[in-house]
Amino acid sequence: MEKMYFGSIDLSNDCMRRDTALWNSRFGNLRSTTVPLICLLFAVLSGCNTGRPNGAGLPNRVQPQIIATTSLVGDMVRTIVGDRLEVRVLMPAGVDPHLYQPTRSDAVDLLYCPLVVYNGLQLEGQFGEVLQKRKTIGHRTFAVSDSLSNHSIIASQGNIPDPHIWMDASLWAICAIGLGEELAAHFPDHAAAFRRSAAEYAEGLRKLDAWAYDSLQTVAAEQRVLVTAHDAFRYFGRRYEVEVYGVQGMSTASEAGIADVNQLVQMVHLRSVPAVFFETSVSKRQVQAIVDGVQAYGKSISADHTLYSDSLGPAGSGAETYHGMMRSNVVTITTALGGAALSNELDNLTMNLK
Ligand SMILES: [Zn+2]
Repeated sequence: MEKMYFGSIDLSNDCMRRDTALWNSRFGNLRSTTVPLICLLFAVLSGCNTGRPNGAGLPNRVQPQIIATTSLVGDMVRTIVGDRLEVRVLMPAGVDPHLYQPTRSDAVDLLYCPLVVYNGLQLEGQFGEVLQKRKTIGHRTFAVSDSLSNHSIIASQGNIPDPHIWMDASLWAICAIGLGEELAAHFPDHAAAFRRSAAEYAEGLRKLDAWAYDSLQTVAAEQRVLVTAHDAFRYFGRRYEVEVYGVQGMSTASEAGIADVNQLVQMVHLRSVPAVFFETSVSKRQVQAIVDGVQAYGKSISADHTLYSDSLGPAGSGAETYHGMMRSNVVTITTALGGAALSNELDNLTMNLK
């Protein structure tokens, strides 16, 4: 039975509530904006048989055979597909997938692309309507999270799933195998190549997973406490035995939020947690509040560290691939908390992985 490492403060529903609230609020937007757009698309389509609305006024460009939503899903798709098919990744590095709203041209492409691959578990909250419409007209969509068994998914008491599955590299490996099968079924001319690429990619992820676990175990158990801006690290915490706390997951800009921040300051102070972590795609304000609160007790705390959570890094950052992102996060967390990432094994990983 898997142990859960969520710490002594009950934060277990915060991100779920945030995701649910975002989901609910965004569906209102989708109904008011995406549906008329889809009606327009069908009106255009009714006058032609090409499968695409040529008269929609969109610029000519290479049409993708696969669209991936997030940068993380896109990295998996591109690694498996290689240059065999045209792949488009909608969200650039640094974009928050909870908030990303498809543009008009995104919506057109999403509707007519032969295959759309997304994370699922309500991560892409703004995409629900257009993906549902694809299904209605018989176009294939594939959520990489569908490869996981229900017991793998962390859920709130209200049974709202946590979508941040990529934070556990062993789960991401299962998703890669599932994607390989989907691609093989959808593009049978490349079936053998896609299955082989997916298997190689998954094997690399399993090595990365083992390296991450071993590296984090060099941190003393009582020091393995991860305080981040946004509570996206539950899967990471469960897999690598780290207590995780997300500041922004607590209610924002409210009395209760202030009380929760104070509670977290107390925890960090009393346990002498040596570092807290910013995230690239989230405001620094809440984590800075923890730093200020701890320093008010006369304690020093390191706040020089930034993690990649819901997005890859930009080109040249070293975190522009999934492997690079995980390596960066594990090295940052391990060293900041007093451990030592296993550099020899990392060198081997770096040689074998993109
Ligand atoms: Zn998130």
